[in-house]
Amino acid sequence: MSNATAVIEAVETILLDIPTVRPHKLSVATMHGQTLMVVKVYCSDGIVGIGEGTTIAGMAYGPESPESMKVAIDTYLAPAAVGKDATSIQALMAHLGKLVKVNHFSKSALETALLDGHGKRLNVPVSELLGGRRRDRLPVAWTLASGDTAKDIAEAEHMLEIRRHNIFKLKIGARDIHTDIKHVAEIKRHFGDRASVRVDVNMAWSEIQASRAIPALADVGCELVEQPVASAAALARLTRRSPVALMADEILQGPESAFEIARNDGANVFAIKIEQSGGLFAAQRVAAIADAAGIELYGGTMLEGAFSTIASAHLFATFANLQWGTELFGPLLITEEILSTPLEYSDFQITVPQGAGLGIELDEAAVKRFTRKGLTKVVR
Ligand SMILES: [Mg+2]
Repeated sequence: MSNATAVIEAVETILLDIPTVRPHKLSVATMHGQTLMVVKVYCSDGIVGIGEGTTIAGMAYGPESPESMKVAIDTYLAPAAVGKDATSIQALMAHLGKLVKVNHFSKSALETALLDGHGKRLNVPVSELLGGRRRDRLPVAWTLASGDTAKDIAEAEHMLEIRRHNIFKLKIGARDIHTDIKHVAEIKRHFGDRASVRVDVNMAWSEIQASRAIPALADVGCELVEQPVASAAALARLTRRSPVALMADEILQGPESAFEIARNDGANVFAIKIEQSGGLFAAQRVAAIADAAGIELYGGTMLEGAFSTIASAHLFATFANLQWGTELFGPLLITEEILSTPLEYSDFQITVPQGAGLGIELDEAAVKRFTRKGLTKVVR
């Protein structure tokens, strides 16, 4: 590392608070806005890399929050990264991993910024740093989570009409099972073969509840059930007798957990998320484990803004298999554009940018407007 061509000079973190287009109801919480923790890595060769961390509804979903990520970076990760070689990303992340345990979301944000910077430095897209893309466009599901059947049908009809989404994921689990199944049945009956209908229970059911509900969901045409229960062991038992594909999300916390789930035949599909995995390289290892185990893949989201969404898109574009498409709709859920050129969603897919690094640029005026005051921090 003595012949480093670029050294990390400073790391800046900010919080952006942006409203959502509508309330987003999950079994764990209802979201009215999204907070993006944006991290910028300034390097000695003039390159600036940008990364992002988000969570779903503050701390309602998992142990990290945008605020805690900021503290982890400001206090521990940034001071250890400043002065280090910005071009040896895997070595640097391994070093930081020894100093800071878990904190997967914080590490993903920082690693994304380093990859964006290195891609800009070498003038290649991040997908090429990850081994090369196999596709330029990715199918994108939309989540119906208004909590109202008629509203959800109207919203989905609109999405079909503008050709933005034809895969719909319904957030269920907050209400009683009969109400939820009726809700799914009405939506699937309305759309028939025009749309794929899936559900995400976000761990709300017990194993007994799930074992009754899953066959009923299969009967009404639901084709995928995401994380119906919290327990990995229960999910494995349900998978053995499920008439429909079951997907692991919350229990998938990086390569070690992926291996455990695969070893126990614990799911049919993995929802891969870069933040939950601990970064892009860790998510790449999760995908390799899934492929080796015959588990199918779905590109998940933490309802991320543009930077983490596009980082995920670069990674998912390199996957050998992506049987269930993606749900990279996070930037569409927030009301405000924070990029100088908006992302391209069309014909039910998102386009993976071709430019250097992530291939996107922040609109600094928009950033100023949404920055939470008094918290911007630069570590040198
Ligand atoms: Mg999920």
